Amino acid sequence: MPELPEVETVRRTLNQLINGKTIERVTVSLPRILQKPDDPQLFAAMLEGRTFQSVERRGKFLRLVLDGLVLVSHLRMEGRYGLYRADEPVELHTHVRFRFTDGQELRYKDVRQFGTMHLFASGEEWTAAPLNKLGLEPLDEGFTPDAFKRALARRTTKIKPLLLNQEVVVGLGNIYVDEALHAAGIHPETPAGELKPKEQEKLHGAIVATLSAAVEAGGSSIKSFVNGQGEMGLFQFGLRAYGRTGEPCPACGSPIEKSVVGGRGTHVCPTCQKPPRGSGRAKARPMADAGTRRASHAVKRRLDGDSR
Ligand SMILES: [Zn+2]
Repeated sequence: MPELPEVETVRRTLNQLINGKTIERVTVSLPRILQKPDDPQLFAAMLEGRTFQSVERRGKFLRLVLDGLVLVSHLRMEGRYGLYRADEPVELHTHVRFRFTDGQELRYKDVRQFGTMHLFASGEEWTAAPLNKLGLEPLDEGFTPDAFKRALARRTTKIKPLLLNQEVVVGLGNIYVDEALHAAGIHPETPAGELKPKEQEKLHGAIVATLSAAVEAGGSSIKSFVNGQGEMGLFQFGLRAYGRTGEPCPACGSPIEKSVVGGRGTHVCPTCQKPPRGSGRAKARPMADAGTRRASHAVKRRLDGDSR
């Protein structure tokens, strides 16, 4: 699934490809992609005659800005955009086509069919789903350590599922969450509200550094996209934990272990990322506070609780 860096690369590429182009005709062959309006004829009628002004991003959502309208597009698992000549054969799994007045065509292809499109009058996209409940934008100036700490306060959810659900900070998916938690030395099952200020700061820095490096690496894949192949793979550059089960941790050499956290495959260094207090491993550490002296059965129950 594309995460912030991949979506950012799509955004930058689309900005080079479609700005200034005027839509002549819209063809929808899979109405399920359309969330608002869900009527393909209305969707097409609203867009025809409009011109793309810019392509922006909020979290993993693209905001394709036209004169008077904003198209909010989520690629989900495998959604892809590509620019073609309108007379090129239409590939399988092409669901929405935006034919331009210059004879070119923007095509949306989605093998898994999970992608979504919402069309809003300019400005109204912020007042409704899917953009109105999103957390902090991690590469914006407003994403300060203090803002991150405030957003984490009193959250009892485990840190990994919390980072995945986009309410605290947007843009992270399974890969970059594992990478950021590894870089910060934080176990993915640690309840968010139990992170110490130092750990919160480390995690903040790791999120920014991980995503920034990936965005930078993303530039190299623009060429194949421009060719109309639309093959936007995930950037498998220098991953330190994700997908490296059994391989040595780059920091300490311990083999990376794989488990399941919140239903997602999760990669952890057992040495660099100690489990939260109360687990078996924590007994080896010196007792830090009353929390570690709880009765073992109570601790066990807490660890089993899914919400923690
Ligand atoms: Zn390690």
